[in-house]
Amino acid sequence: MRSAFARSLIPNVPPTQAELERAFALLKLDPDDLRCAYCGNPSTEWDHFFPVMRKGKPTGYLTRIQNLVPACSKCNQSKGNRNWLEWIQSSAPLSPRSRGVRKLDRKIKYLKTYEAWGATATVDFSDVLGRSALDQHSEYLDEILALMRQADSHSKALRSQVLEELPLVIQEKRPSLWRRIWRWIFS
Ligand SMILES: [Zn+2]
Repeated sequence: MRSAFARSLIPNVPPTQAELERAFALLKLDPDDLRCAYCGNPSTEWDHFFPVMRKGKPTGYLTRIQNLVPACSKCNQSKGNRNWLEWIQSSAPLSPRSRGVRKLDRKIKYLKTYEAWGATATVDFSDVLGRSALDQHSEYLDEILALMRQADSHSKALRSQVLEELPLVIQEKRPSLWRRIWRWIFS
């Protein structure tokens, strides 16, 4: 919850057509047959080149084309929040190096050019928004969390009330034992 709330401050910057074309050109990828920039498998998603969140806080990197690369789910999951260059050459499970991806050095070269295009630009949220706006944002979160705790203890009270009245509720719905015996003997 806390992390989702912090993430909600990070805008998605839509790319222009020219920027998209530049991205594919720098990575030497064909937009009609989009491949993972790390390993060359068919691409299924866009990976943040540098993570926008770390330990529940915004890193300052943004969701913009300069910081997104086409990736496959294997690479995306294996990379996680790691630095791309360390990860790609590491022996981490499913990393391109440990999967024996061909022409890896060439891919690294393209990715370095891509990085130089502007992936590392960051935003300091407290500089841009100001302290009081950020304080207001976390006050909202505190209010929501307090209300959730209140709602949770209310649910607990209702649950135990149902539990206490359960025998009565159930007994009323079925005939008592004596009544059943009575029927069995006399009907
Ligand atoms: Zn991949």
